[in-house]
Amino acid sequence: MKLKSINPATLEVLAEIETTPIDKVFEIAEKAQLAFKSWSSKTIDERLGLLKRARGIFYEIKDELARLITLENGKPIVESYSMEIFPTLDLFDFYIKNAKKILKRKKVRSQIPLFWIKRNYIHFEPLGVVAVISPWNYPLLLPIAPIISALVAGNCVIFKPSEYTSLIGLKIAEIFHKAGFPDGVFNIVIGYGDVGEALVNSNIDKISFTGSTKTGRLIMQNASKKPIPVTLELGGKDPMIVFDDVDIETSATSAVWSAFANAGQTCVSVEVCYVHEKIFQEFVEKVVEKTKKLKIGNGLDPDVEIGPINNEKQLKIIENQIQDAISKGAKILTGGKRIKPKDKNGSELAGYFFEPTVIIDVDNSMLLMKEETFGPVLPILSFKDEDEVVEKVNSSEYGLSASVWTKDKKRAERVVEKIKSGSVLVNECIVHYGDAKAPCGGVKSSGFGRVHSEFGLYDMVNIKFESFDYISSYRLWWYGYDEKLLNTMKKAIAFLYSPSLTEKLKSAPGLLLNLFRKNESKI
Ligand code: NAD
Repeated sequence: MKLKSINPATLEVLAEIETTPIDKVFEIAEKAQLAFKSWSSKTIDERLGLLKRARGIFYEIKDELARLITLENGKPIVESYSMEIFPTLDLFDFYIKNAKKILKRKKVRSQIPLFWIKRNYIHFEPLGVVAVISPWNYPLLLPIAPIISALVAGNCVIFKPSEYTSLIGLKIAEIFHKAGFPDGVFNIVIGYGDVGEALVNSNIDKISFTGSTKTGRLIMQNASKKPIPVTLELGGKDPMIVFDDVDIETSATSAVWSAFANAGQTCVSVEVCYVHEKIFQEFVEKVVEKTKKLKIGNGLDPDVEIGPINNEKQLKIIENQIQDAISKGAKILTGGKRIKPKDKNGSELAGYFFEPTVIIDVDNSMLLMKEETFGPVLPILSFKDEDEVVEKVNSSEYGLSASVWTKDKKRAERVVEKIKSGSVLVNECIVHYGDAKAPCGGVKSSGFGRVHSEFGLYDMVNIKFESFDYISSYRLWWYGYDEKLLNTMKKAIAFLYSPSLTEKLKSAPGLLLNLFRKNESKI
């Protein structure tokens, strides 16, 4: 069976790609399991050596990759560089520089004095074969983080790119193969949801999934049968909260970029804006004015700021939410419909374009407020005070990311602390996802587990505790229970944990005498 890779700006077919037959998916997983045996026994330096080669190839072909991203995903070429190539290189460099230190076996000293003769360690071991299942909205950046962290930690990877961005997936596979990763260590499967489902049910040891909350739930159900661990990076409904002390010009400009970059198809894009009632009118006017100036078109044109929606299915979700909102009384201030922008030669583009849309008079009965939109739509609401807005934000089913705009540092600290979310930024939106040191992930229906930073690496390992004791020949707590052991335990608890110094001192002599009870053991 073949799937079509389509340019969403022109609807031109870029390629027809063979999908992976379901039985082949199971075979690939078995092959990866075999490869894991030798791959996991390589030193981290050997693994990092190959990763450096992949990074080198990646850098060499970055222009080709950026162009392919714009062709197959649709985002403006500037964003292919700023929001895909740039953060991807940063991730490579972070893990190349820090993985060895993060994954080094760590010595731990027990809190309990009796255990001080033991040598204890935390050892980070690979899990086995990791399935990386990705969406289409950031077809390079999103899979690359779990792929790099899984490989560096000693796992094999089976990568399933989105059916909408398979060409980019194949390009990523080409980079890892050219870099010399041994056969079976990096694998790719191509296809729709059924191929993803087969992968989840194949002989794998971990799933790193980025995609919709609906698919995430299904994946978790299937993974629970074995069970194997899952990391779920799911949908969001990120709020931007704007207090009345902000610079309106700056925060309005940010709202426009943060809601409409990648045509709003960013998991951490601003999906709803809460603005203090005192500045609501002026803020909305500025947002509308700026939105009207955005240039819509084919992302290959360097001036274009808004590219197409990636696929028809997503476009219909956006249209449906807008129609539902209008029917329930919402007011569109600009945008609100599909368009056919012109290309450089003046011809109409046939692709999936939707106007950047600013909408007010929305409420929680509307789909737009309840569900993720994942399109260039910005609903703006007003609020009266801090408590009210925090409660509104926290009542959302999602908790991926949020932003707070204010000059008042104390208020910022307070609100940041109160918001239930994977991340909260002050006077900034979105960009933390491009910072390799920032752990990214969600709470509530936005998922769990983290990508990026040291936590992205810890997500890919078995945190194994190792304890070595070559000294003790008997243990105080072994069988031979009697009155004396009971008293020893009571004294030990008093000595270690009593809040009273007198009680601690009183228990010490008896405790010392009772510690060595070897000869009295009854078994
Ligand atoms: P999706 O859930 O439809 O698909 C994601 C991937 O899962 C695709 O590769 C798809 O083929 C595969 N898949 C589908 N059904 C499957 C099944 N039953 N078993 C296994 N795999 C299956 O999501 P999408 O439409 O491609 O992406 C958009 C969604 O991704 C949005 O909800 C967005 O918020 C979310 N997202 C989240 C993050 C994050 O970091 N939290 C980042 C980007 C995107």
